[in-house]
Amino acid sequence: MLVLTVVVVLPRFQRIQSLNDVVNRLVREHLQGIRPVHAYNAEAYEQKKFAAANQDITDNNMVATKTMAVINPGMTAISSGLTLAVYWIGAFLIAAAGASAKLTLYSEMVVFSNYAMQIIMAFMLLNMVFVMLPRAQVSVRRVQEVIGTTSSIVSGAGAMVDESQQGTVEFRDVSFSYPDDGARVLSHVSFKAKQGETIAFIGATGSGKTTLVQLVDRLFDATGGEVLIDGVPIQDFDLDDLHNRVGYIPQTATLFKGTVKTNICYGEAAATRSDQEVEDALAIAQADFVQTLPAGTDATIEQGGRNVSGGQRQRLAIARALARKPEILVFDDSFSALDFATDRALRDALERECAGTTRLIVAQRVSTIRDADQILVLDQGRVVGQGTHEELLKSCKPYQEIVNSQMSAEEAAHV
Ligand code: ADP
Repeated sequence: MLVLTVVVVLPRFQRIQSLNDVVNRLVREHLQGIRPVHAYNAEAYEQKKFAAANQDITDNNMVATKTMAVINPGMTAISSGLTLAVYWIGAFLIAAAGASAKLTLYSEMVVFSNYAMQIIMAFMLLNMVFVMLPRAQVSVRRVQEVIGTTSSIVSGAGAMVDESQQGTVEFRDVSFSYPDDGARVLSHVSFKAKQGETIAFIGATGSGKTTLVQLVDRLFDATGGEVLIDGVPIQDFDLDDLHNRVGYIPQTATLFKGTVKTNICYGEAAATRSDQEVEDALAIAQADFVQTLPAGTDATIEQGGRNVSGGQRQRLAIARALARKPEILVFDDSFSALDFATDRALRDALERECAGTTRLIVAQRVSTIRDADQILVLDQGRVVGQGTHEELLKSCKPYQEIVNSQMSAEEAAHV
């Protein structure tokens, strides 16, 4: 019986636990993507995917359960048969014994029967452990994967910053590959931004812009070269200190359930932020729509910011970064969800109110970055052009192509 459990049931239960993952993932994906599923009439396709996974898990469950349906009565039959055999043989022995030995034989029979039952019970429990063990093994392995993963981003001992270098961002011959992927995403990128300067990054999708700016907030460490903030290698900073210096606005704005205010006053030191500071941050971020809400900054924000538009979400995310008053602001394509007029107004407000803050801007539109102090044109992780808009217009072919694809020559000169 135990052999049957180990050979047939054990691997099945292991597989069932992994298949549970697949079914859960499919259900989650379907529910999260319910809108595209409807929009693309993909209900039948999704149902087919679910049915295949469901069939797989059902088949495995059937084999395991059918085997257990034989094993369990088998074990019970063995234990009951053994008890019957003990009493049967005992009864013959007692009947054949003399009167004085009958009582001794009877008590020995009862004791023997109890021991035999204990051994059988132990085997039945062992059988149950064999059923539960593979499921537990799979779960433990998964929990260990999470708990046992150590972050390669280790906080530095703390950096002594030279005042004269404050607000500077420097990349020295930086290269980068993602951990699970050998391909180089950035190759030999070098630039220096002084305090208050605006550095912009433009290039085709997949050219490495997001990857580059993520290195500034140490979401990843460069695999070659050096990134310096305030003149100090980025690895030397205490991570909290670094995150206070850099205001990173990711490509996809994430809002949390709460109010406008709890979203703006988010993170460390948020409690000390005054209402005026919140209002100022919202004003610079062009989040005027908050004023039109009946509850103003106390207006409710649903989970993930579902009750505000993409552009509004982006503006609130910008306001959240501004409220922290960082030395360096990193906008990862934060402007493309904004209309042209708001894009312009936001850049003007940043120029006016955050003149001392260094700005790194990833953008799709040339008009967004035209006034930048330095523009880096990226192509497959390499810098193929570096300079001001006017310089690049004269000397950089890839930049000229981007400009030409977006506006007429006259516009290019005057935007
Ligand atoms: P961009 O912002 O210019 O569109 P990205 O920096 O997002 O470009 O991506 C640059 C390259 O890195 C792409 O080829 C992309 O496939 C790859 N990449 C991005 N994120 C990851 C990741 N987490 N793991 C592996 N490769 C990635």
